[in-house]
Amino acid sequence: MKNFILAILMAVTTITIAQNKKPKLVIGIVIDQMRYDYLDRYWNKFGEDGFKKLINNGFNCQNTHYNYMPTYTAPGHASIYTGTTPENHGIIANTWFNKESGKYFYCTEDTNVTTLGSGSKNGMMSPKNMITTTITDELKLATNFKGKVIGISLKDRGAILPAGHKTDAAYWYDGENEGKWITSTYYMDELPKWVQEVNTKNTANTYLNKPWNTLLPIKDYTESIADDNPYEGTFTGEEKPVFPHNLPNLRDSNDNYSLIKATPFGNTILKEMAIAALKGEQLGKDDITDFLTISFSSTDYVGHQFGPMSIEIEDTYLRLDRELSELLTLLETQFKKEEILIFLTADHGAVNVPQYLMDNHIPAGYFDMKSAAKDLSRKCKAQFGVDSLIRNISNSHVFLDYKRIEVNKLNQNKIENAIASWLLGYKGVAQTLTRNSLKNTKFNEGIASIIQRGFNQNRSGDVLFTLKSGWIMAGYSTGTTHGSPYQYDTHVPLLWYGAGILKGETKSKVVIPDIAATLAVILNIQAPSACTGEPIKEIVK
Ligand code: ZN
Ligand code: ZN
Ligand code: ZN
Repeated sequence: MKNFILAILMAVTTITIAQNKKPKLVIGIVIDQMRYDYLDRYWNKFGEDGFKKLINNGFNCQNTHYNYMPTYTAPGHASIYTGTTPENHGIIANTWFNKESGKYFYCTEDTNVTTLGSGSKNGMMSPKNMITTTITDELKLATNFKGKVIGISLKDRGAILPAGHKTDAAYWYDGENEGKWITSTYYMDELPKWVQEVNTKNTANTYLNKPWNTLLPIKDYTESIADDNPYEGTFTGEEKPVFPHNLPNLRDSNDNYSLIKATPFGNTILKEMAIAALKGEQLGKDDITDFLTISFSSTDYVGHQFGPMSIEIEDTYLRLDRELSELLTLLETQFKKEEILIFLTADHGAVNVPQYLMDNHIPAGYFDMKSAAKDLSRKCKAQFGVDSLIRNISNSHVFLDYKRIEVNKLNQNKIENAIASWLLGYKGVAQTLTRNSLKNTKFNEGIASIIQRGFNQNRSGDVLFTLKSGWIMAGYSTGTTHGSPYQYDTHVPLLWYGAGILKGETKSKVVIPDIAATLAVILNIQAPSACTGEPIKEIVK
C-alpha cells in the first residue's frame, strides 16, 4: 500500500514537472519574403543579439522548405500555423476566383463583421475561410480557452491566419489616411485600452517625418548592387530609386500612412506594437501558455519594390536585426530562457529581379498571361465550338465553365487535356497538371507533388501550371515577386530558441507543416486538425 501511494505520488510529481516545463509564452515570428540566404549574406553585419542570438544559442533548421505552391503570403501563414498545405486548409492564394460567386475573393474577407479602430472598411476581416484548425486554436482548446493568443502584423492576413479561429485578438495596420492599428468585430466589441493608447501615440509620424537613410555608410553595403540601378522601382514622385528616400515629401503621393509599409520603419512600429501587446495583455505572466504571433511585413513590400539585391532590402534586414535584438533583450529581462519558446521563419522567399538575371545570362523571363489567355480562349472555341469555356485564369489556375460544359454535353477531361497541352506551347510555361490527374494520381515528389499539395479540390481551378525557373508574370518592369515551386521561393529560415530547444543545427530537409507538428509535441497538445507535418525530433531536448 505504501509503495502504491509512493508510486502515485511519484507519478503526480512527474506530471507536475512535465506541465511546469511548458513555456509560459510562445512567440512565432514570420518575416515576410525572407529568403534563407539572407542569413548568410548579411551575417557579418548583424549584431550579436538578433538573428545571431537565435542561431548561436538556438537551433537552426538550415534546409527548411515550402512543399506546395503558390508560395504567397496567405497560404504561407496558414500553412505554418495549420501544419498542412492549401490542399487541406483551403487558403489557396491571397485572392482567388470564387467558383460559386464568379467573383474574386480575398482570403480573409468577411462582410458580416465591421472595423474596430478606424473609419475604413479594412477591418471587415476574419479567419473563417481557413477550414482547418491552427496550433493556436489547439492551444486554446487544450487550455480550456485560458491561454491567451494574440496575432499582430501590418498585413491583415499576416495577423489573422496565424492567430486562428478562437483567438483573443488579431491586429493589423490601417494605412492610407488612418495610420491606426485595427481589428474586427469578429474578435471583440471594443479596442482594448492599450491598443487605443498605441493609436493615440501614433509613432508612424515620427518615422515618416524624416528621410530614410542607410543605417551604415552606404559604401559598406558590399553585398548589394549599386543603389541606382534599372531593376528597382521608385516611390511615386521619386525620380530615382536611391537614398535618401525623402519620406516627408513622398507621403502625399504614396497614400500617406501606407508609405511606412514599404520602409524598414513598418517593422519598427510592429515591434512597438509587439512590446505594447506583451505588456497590455500581460502575456506569459501566469502558468498557462500564451501565444503571440508576430509577422513582419515591410521586408515583403521593400522586396517587391527593390528586389533581393538592393541596398534597400539589405538596409531593411540590418534594421530588422536591431528590432529583433531589442525585442529579444526585452523578453530576456522578463523571462528566463526556459520560460519562453521562440521560432522564426518566413512565409516564402523571392526570385531575383528577372531582368537582372537575364542581363547576367541566368534563365529568367516575363510571361505574357494576357495574350496567352486570349489565345487559349480562341483555341477552345475553335476546337470545341463553344464560346467562353474558360471562366477565369488567376494564380496559375485555369477555371472552366462547368455549366457551359454540361449544357453543351462536352467532355471536361478532354478540355482540360487540350488546355494543358496548349499551355505548354507558350514560352515560359514549365509544367501543367489537370484536375483529373490531380484527383486520380498521388504525386510523391518533384514539382507535380508541390502543385498537388496546393490543389484544393473545392476551391482550385481545373488546369494548373507553373512557369519556368526565374520567370514571373509580365506586368512588373522593375522589382520582383514570389509564388513559384523553385528554391528561391521555397527555401526559408527556420530558427528555434528557448524552452526545450537544443543548441545546434540540422541540414536534414524540414517542410513548413513540420513547424506546427513540432509545437504540438513541445506544448504536449493536439496537433492541428489536418496536420500533415512530422515533429522535428533533433531540436527537442
Ligand atoms: Zn508574404
Ligand atoms: Zn536603390
Ligand atoms: Zn509578397
